[in-house]
Amino acid sequence: MEHEPNDPGLADLVHRLRRFADERDWQRFHTPKNLAMALAGEVGELLAELQWLTPEESAQVMADPEHGARVRAEIGDVMIYLARLSDILGIDPLAAATDKLTEAAHRYPVERSYGSAVKAPSADRTG
Ligand SMILES: [Mg+2]
Repeated sequence: MEHEPNDPGLADLVHRLRRFADERDWQRFHTPKNLAMALAGEVGELLAELQWLTPEESAQVMADPEHGARVRAEIGDVMIYLARLSDILGIDPLAAATDKLTEAAHRYPVERSYGSAVKAPSADRTG
């Protein structure tokens, strides 16, 4: 199920990931389950870079070149697996995120949500 993302930068990444998998005959490993698990693993690696930092230290993590490079690399891994999973499922992740942001703006109107972290009930239960 192929779907071309509208964003040219994302489309380029998706095409490069397709080629990368094709050249290695890795498409057969790229099932939605495997890619979702790989994505979760990479999110875990990103969390591992931040988990023992204080909130203040985490806000300054990019000031340390070595640590910042590790965080950047994990963000790249997360993006790769999210883009590949989205491609396999025929989802444009930017369009999906835009839809979710529109929905969040309705769930959290500024006049009721300003300065508040209280969670509103979700209409579709996807969080
Ligand atoms: Mg990684």
